[in-house]
Amino acid sequence: MKVHEYQAKAFFAQYGLPVDRSVLCKTVEEAVAAYHSLDNEKAVVKAQIHTGGRGKAGGVKVANNEDELKRYAMQILGMEIKGFKVDRILVGEAVEIVSEYYVSIVVDRKSKSAILMLSREGGMDIETVAKNTPEKIHQIVIDPFIGLPDYLAREAAFYLFDDMSLVKQAVPLFQGLYKLFMEKDASLAEINPLVLAKDGKLKAIDAKMTFDNNALFRHPDVLELFEPTAEEQKEQEAKDKGFSYVHLGGEIGCMVNGAGLAMATMDMIKLYGGHPANFLDIGGSSNPTKIVEAMKLLLSDEQVRVILINIFGGITRCDDVAKGLIEAFQLIDVGTPIVIRLTGTNEEEGRSILKGTKFHVAKTMSEAGRMAVEQLSK
Ligand code: GDP
Ligand code: MN
Repeated sequence: MKVHEYQAKAFFAQYGLPVDRSVLCKTVEEAVAAYHSLDNEKAVVKAQIHTGGRGKAGGVKVANNEDELKRYAMQILGMEIKGFKVDRILVGEAVEIVSEYYVSIVVDRKSKSAILMLSREGGMDIETVAKNTPEKIHQIVIDPFIGLPDYLAREAAFYLFDDMSLVKQAVPLFQGLYKLFMEKDASLAEINPLVLAKDGKLKAIDAKMTFDNNALFRHPDVLELFEPTAEEQKEQEAKDKGFSYVHLGGEIGCMVNGAGLAMATMDMIKLYGGHPANFLDIGGSSNPTKIVEAMKLLLSDEQVRVILINIFGGITRCDDVAKGLIEAFQLIDVGTPIVIRLTGTNEEEGRSILKGTKFHVAKTMSEAGRMAVEQLSK
């Protein structure tokens, strides 16, 4: 689960990390009021969205005076960055930056530990640094039984700083970040950039955190910040109905019983040049109400132009499934073409029940994939 920069900064502050003073604003008027309350000539205006790279997209601007601040606030509040509409901005005191560093803690699957990542080349080009000069990013594996005691934090700090006064500031900063990361079950805690300001102090001027969804039940303070996207909302609704659903963005909606079969169905669609709109496992039984619910879910996706139903009849026999499908489609009116493939117990009977209906009946999996893709061009 992602949170916004201002929310991550609130966690940082809670754990004693140095962050710049800032105020969250939803309107230009609020931004102007925030500017005055900060009582600083220069202010920074930052889009609050669930994605990085805001600086490069024009979502971070340093204003030199009130007029500029107003202009930037107006500009950024109306922006859309990588598909995210900006409805909130953070107005902060602009820090006079001497140099920018990169610090993060992430879960590393290879070492099965949290690792501390550090670079002297922090800032907006960290991706390029990671790609072209990975040796400039230092990684320290943190043993969960040892954590980050002073000597280790000091060792880490020397990767970033030569100056002892900065090392001394960095040690509690790294330790606080690690404590926050562990106690809140985060999967990422990133400061990019951590800056050395003109006054000689280290400051986190950006903050990024993501949290482990499976641990949210024990962190109500984090869960409270959850802002699902339209897709995530749909996925949650589907989950509540007992489906396993993942939105994928293609044009062929899939309804399948069994996760393995659903994966294979998606592969088949791809093989014939189509794009699956979703992964949907409707589970074992295929009673009409469940099919209707699943169908509604698929049809609520505006990109879906064809529906492919792929059912393996094991304990639930194919003739029952066919009857269930016919019953279900009497309950909802669907204009979208539907391709059905039934296999397993009593499949012949199932197919003959569907004969003469508006469904396109396929015998094999590849036939179903091909037919679904063909329907797209009709
Ligand atoms: P991101 O691009 O989404 O990661 O947004 P950041 O918060 O990291 O901001 C991008 C860049 O804007 C930083 O790397 C800084 O160079 C610059 N920036 C951000 N805040 C300030 C500030 O307070 N003062 C100054 N001078 N520059 C800032
Ligand atoms: Mn950043």
